[in-house]
Amino acid sequence: MDDRRRYCPVCATPLMTKRLSGIDRRVCGDPGCGFVFWDNPIPVVAGIVEHEGQLVFARNVRWPKGMYGVVTGFLEPREEPRDAVVREVAEELGLAAEITEFIGVYGFARKNQILLAYHLVGHGEITLPDGELAEYFHVDKACAQYWPGGTGLAVRDWLQRQGFDPQPRQLPPEVEAWLKAPPELD
Ligand SMILES: [Zn+2]
Repeated sequence: MDDRRRYCPVCATPLMTKRLSGIDRRVCGDPGCGFVFWDNPIPVVAGIVEHEGQLVFARNVRWPKGMYGVVTGFLEPREEPRDAVVREVAEELGLAAEITEFIGVYGFARKNQILLAYHLVGHGEITLPDGELAEYFHVDKACAQYWPGGTGLAVRDWLQRQGFDPQPRQLPPEVEAWLKAPPELD
């Protein structure tokens, strides 16, 4: 349970913790309101982008140096996941991209998300238009490493399906520490 949600989004009364059917939930302190924060996992699209024959990894501006990942983002209301991942690649990398493959669905418990992972080929020049990424780099598929969780498992699975033998990445200590701290709220 994420108990950092402090106020009811319906009536702004402080939330309280209450046990419902054996599970602690954040509920509205006003019984007349009845809001319950179910904290269900949130779907996120993830795009493993291939550009000029290499994979593109990037670091979000909120991540420590040494941490990197792929393009991810939330779906807009009623948006198709395939449209969302193409849109995110355009917004974050400035590339026109086409999906080549749906890689799979991955749980991401650390952030209580469900990842829908795609492989895309991007065209054009990388420009980081929306400022969400601090830096990016190209990696040869033959020496791309994966990280042991979240989108990293999609990177691993995709590389293996392409016939590569990706190895797990040794994370720097500051990244390990950051991963153990509570995740940022989106
Ligand atoms: Zn309320």
